[in-house]
Amino acid sequence: MSYNVNEKGYYGEFGGAFIPEMLYPNVEELRQNYLKIMAEPDFQKEFNQLLKNYVGRPSPLYFATRLSEKYNTKIYLKREDLNHTGAHKINNTIGQILMAKRLGKHRIIAETGAGQHGVATATVCALMGLECIVYMGEIDIARQAPNVARMKMLGATVVPATSGSKTLKDATNEAIRDWIRNPVDTHYIIGSVVGPHPYPDMVARFQSVVSDEIKWQLQEQEGRENPDYVVACVGGGSNAAGAYYHFLEDETVKLIAVEAAGLGVDSGESAATSILGREGIIHGSKTLLMQSNDGQITEPYSISAGLDYPGVGPMHAHLYKSSRAEFIAITDDDAMTAGLDLCKLEGIIPAIESSHALAVFEKKTFKSEDIVVLSLSGRGDKDLETYIKHFKL
Ligand SMILES: *Cc1c(COP(=O)(O)O)cnc(C)c1O
Repeated sequence: MSYNVNEKGYYGEFGGAFIPEMLYPNVEELRQNYLKIMAEPDFQKEFNQLLKNYVGRPSPLYFATRLSEKYNTKIYLKREDLNHTGAHKINNTIGQILMAKRLGKHRIIAETGAGQHGVATATVCALMGLECIVYMGEIDIARQAPNVARMKMLGATVVPATSGSKTLKDATNEAIRDWIRNPVDTHYIIGSVVGPHPYPDMVARFQSVVSDEIKWQLQEQEGRENPDYVVACVGGGSNAAGAYYHFLEDETVKLIAVEAAGLGVDSGESAATSILGREGIIHGSKTLLMQSNDGQITEPYSISAGLDYPGVGPMHAHLYKSSRAEFIAITDDDAMTAGLDLCKLEGIIPAIESSHALAVFEKKTFKSEDIVVLSLSGRGDKDLETYIKHFKL
């Protein structure tokens, strides 16, 4: 069985491109060109130079001594939190802005929920001097004021989505409408391994630099390329896709995907998409999503804004269905505790998304000789207020 995308844009039974007819030319233009452009030496050179000199790659693969001692196993942290803008999202937006330029696009649109993808997009638009329009639900704009300010400082226009629930789903609808109106000069930067084919594959490839580095870094430190486990949190699935990518077809490397259980998987306030989801179509692809019996998308809940998404990318739906990856759901409380623990044990303040992945060590026992690589997807600066409230600091 293959865990990568096939020519038709499917991972097993998931994926595809379920889009309105008027979007077809845009998506088709991208589909026909993305692999060709990514393979160009000139593209590779510019991408790698920016990852090195602008993002600060390679990110360290850090052997966490005290964390390893506590859980009696060998834990390495892949430090995506040290990237410029504080998370893995920039790997993808750098790739897509270079793609947009080569497709002759000079206007960039994006949608954002918590604002992290909006900031990463506004950042690369400033870097390249391209116009940037970010759609964001009115409610999210009110909830995420610091990220709205960041986007504005970076020169982006933030457009409120005022329909429906005034959150991410509505911002996505606005972005799609914009793309239909502006098919020639505009590129739509999607922020995770979601959306119609070829987006999930393109984003996974841009993020695959993470597992590419893990391989040579582990070779350097342990004398072997493959860990026993790769652990990552999953919202849409892009940091996990990047950390898994070069290990997908080698089943001796076990994959662990961590979803947000919110207040508990059965509480009605959760974002554990794979466990709670059923097949459906969201953002133009067939995948697992949380929905009511009549197919209405259920509002997800998680203390971490980046995991608060009702769907999951088609690659992960397939990893779940095929049991290639083990899916574990972690509650708000357990994630917060694991996050604070990392602060005290290693002097690293993690994003609450990444704290979900860290909580796996309380749920699952590893052997003392196991090498476990964990994707530390982002830093916790953006989450300070949530940590303060939770622990009454
Ligand atoms: C956005 C975000 C995530 C979740 O997105 P994925 O596409 O699942 O990686 C995880 N961690 C951090 C720090 C984020 O900003």
